[in-house]
Amino acid sequence: MRIDEMIAAVQQELGIGVDGKAGPETWGAIYKKICKVTQAEMVQVVGALEPVDARSEKTIATLLPEVQPFARALVQKASANGMTIKILSGLRTYEEQDALYAQGRTAPGNKVTNAKGGFSNHNFGIAFDIGVFEGAKYLGDSPKYKAVGVLGMELGLEWGGNWKTIVDQPHYQLRPVWAANMTERDMLAELRARKASGKGAYS
Ligand SMILES: [Zn+2]
Repeated sequence: MRIDEMIAAVQQELGIGVDGKAGPETWGAIYKKICKVTQAEMVQVVGALEPVDARSEKTIATLLPEVQPFARALVQKASANGMTIKILSGLRTYEEQDALYAQGRTAPGNKVTNAKGGFSNHNFGIAFDIGVFEGAKYLGDSPKYKAVGVLGMELGLEWGGNWKTIVDQPHYQLRPVWAANMTERDMLAELRARKASGKGAYS
């Protein structure tokens, strides 16, 4: 067995993206599994969770309590690496998601999403989008999105930049432990069911 085949088999077993190359996502998953650290402990590894900038905090307040420290940790980790990011988008209601889905279809504008209400991780408070800034200037396109992506994966976040279908570099989500080996589709179905029955996304 070649080393890349071995890594691919380990990735398969860990339920993460399979590409046969052991990058930060793979090492993060191995670390979590072998060292048996919880997601909360992963954040503590990073350190202080003081409030970040007001704009980000406004968005962070819409996220589930389990996700909030990760968003703050990402802002702080980016800052420690010389990059300014803000959390620009968090929870969206099903109605807000439907309105976004209509854009470029039945409403004016360009298509911005393929997800209807209930089919985006943003509808459950487990996902957020960042913006990279240079001073006060927002950068919609910058190599820094990739650099921040690596930091996010080190925290144990899933990064949209790794997605195969629609690459979404500003996007991050905190996958619940029960969804470790699930497809995105199955995870969303379970999240909808939990929301409908009032069961927490991370319980
Ligand atoms: Zn997003």
